[in-house]
Amino acid sequence: MTSLVPIAPPGTAPGTAEPGSDPRAGLSGVRLDEVGAWLASAGQPPYRARQLADAFWRGHARVPADLRGLPAALQAAVGESFVLDTLIETELQLSDGGLTEKALHTLADGSLIESVLMHYPARAGHRERHTACISSQVGCAVGCPFCATGELGFGRDLSTAEIVDQVRWAARRLSSDGRRLTNVVFMGMGEPLLNLDRVLEAVSALADAARFGLGARHITVSTSGVVPGIRRLTALGPQFTLAVSLHAARDPLRDVLVPLNRRWPVAEVLAAARDHAASTGRRISYEYTMIGGVNDTAADAEALAVLLRGDLAHVNLIPMNPVAHTPWTASPMPVIEAFAARLRDAGVPVTIRRNRGQEIGAACGQLAAEHAGEPPVAAVARRRERLVTASAAAIRGERSVDPSPVRESGEEA
Ligand code: SAH
Ligand code: SF4
Repeated sequence: MTSLVPIAPPGTAPGTAEPGSDPRAGLSGVRLDEVGAWLASAGQPPYRARQLADAFWRGHARVPADLRGLPAALQAAVGESFVLDTLIETELQLSDGGLTEKALHTLADGSLIESVLMHYPARAGHRERHTACISSQVGCAVGCPFCATGELGFGRDLSTAEIVDQVRWAARRLSSDGRRLTNVVFMGMGEPLLNLDRVLEAVSALADAARFGLGARHITVSTSGVVPGIRRLTALGPQFTLAVSLHAARDPLRDVLVPLNRRWPVAEVLAAARDHAASTGRRISYEYTMIGGVNDTAADAEALAVLLRGDLAHVNLIPMNPVAHTPWTASPMPVIEAFAARLRDAGVPVTIRRNRGQEIGAACGQLAAEHAGEPPVAAVARRRERLVTASAAAIRGERSVDPSPVRESGEEA
């Protein structure tokens, strides 16, 4: 038998060119044909490809020794060319009586990212669900001021494997007591459409029956409104459910809440989202974080209803999770209910989402922000003051003239 040495020196194994500090490729980000080619050039029979895929994906392998059924030499060779798990260490916090599990993962270069595993028990007419909420970037360049990730700023894009391994982490955790992951949402740290190539690769791995094997219909990607990314997805055809984080129907306020709006304003985002719904036949989910006294008035509900009336759309109202260093808190529940009723009366489908894991900061980015340390008190005070002034001006309908701070993938920050 051919001796099993890695066929490529470290750094040139298939699927590399990944961020992070380990030069080996993360195996979950490598396509099956590339793994097959790697095996073939190591003199392995074709059936090993299937065996390796099964041991890795179904067996939730983290280290070469977990690749049961493979010869020890092949296990070792896999370990020399590939990283089986790009999440080096995971710190776990539980809340909601165990229904919400928040994970803070350390990556090879020391970066911290978060994912949340949410359990929804069975109820009348609905099976139990287990949803992984995952990150696509370290930090985020968009800088929404009510979001802990936005405050962290942009670190780097995640590799395909770093994205997929968050889902594998959740699946492994569930499998230990016989449960299965049912849904994946890209609603953790980062803007997925600013790391779209890798997000698309990750979705392929997750949806592929020969790899993770979760139906594409069970995957939702949320964007703050990256119009070229939405248009690219539309051209590709249905890939997953698209959620658009709107948070305001009028430009002056959306400029403040989602700074990307200065580059792609509400009308452009809506036009791209509508084209996507028309071309894929899939309803768009609009996310609307309810911030007390900021975007929750009757006039805001009216503007949103006018915008979405007749669309293939669904609105999710999310009470704002408390985030350090903002001057804002969630709208009171009666205000949220009144807002929902106005939308419903206008024929716009709407759901109020329950906060999950508030005490552990389940709006992603909060645990990582805590690890990043406290910013200087004076800077926090200035930020709060600036946000209060900017939102007050926006509520009066004045549009800010600040240039957009947003960086697109590949651009210098
Ligand atoms: N960047 C993407 C996806 C990650 S954020 C996006 O913005 O869509 C996922 C969702 O969490 C978004 O709808 C975002 O607006 C929301 N979110 C962020 N911080 C929040 C907070 N403090 N309270 C409630 N929702 C929040
Ligand atoms: Fe980025 Fe989304 Fe947070 Fe805005 S809400 S800063 S786009 S992660």
